[in-house]
Amino acid sequence: MKVQKFDNIYAVRLVPGEEIIKSIETVCEAEKINLATVSAIGAVNTATVGLYNLDEKKYHKNHFDCPLELVSLLGNVTRKDGNAYVHVHASFADSDGKVIGGHLNEAVISATCEMFITVIDGYVCRKTDEITGLQVFDI
Ligand code: ZN
Repeated sequence: MKVQKFDNIYAVRLVPGEEIIKSIETVCEAEKINLATVSAIGAVNTATVGLYNLDEKKYHKNHFDCPLELVSLLGNVTRKDGNAYVHVHASFADSDGKVIGGHLNEAVISATCEMFITVIDGYVCRKTDEITGLQVFDI
């Protein structure tokens, strides 16, 4: 992973074999980032994305083991129990151009990932929402 800071924005380049969520957590812990937005594009060879089932209050996960373009990744970083809490959604395209996506659990880089982490001057924690069971912004 390569990281370069410009004012309040970090440019991040991931290399083959690195996992996206863990990499964002690593940057945020190392740089003491409490609140940020994240965007990225790139290419992966595995991805696990999910859909939250409100009735069951748990994620239904779909795992893909094939070359995929990371078409778009959007999300945020907050704090939960003092640790960086990464919440990102992503869409991926396969060799036919079909797009899948959802809540991103895990994706491993095949070629590269070009990411920007934009730091916001603030602090937001997470709390459990009684109705949905989700970890929502505590604001
Ligand atoms: Zn989500």
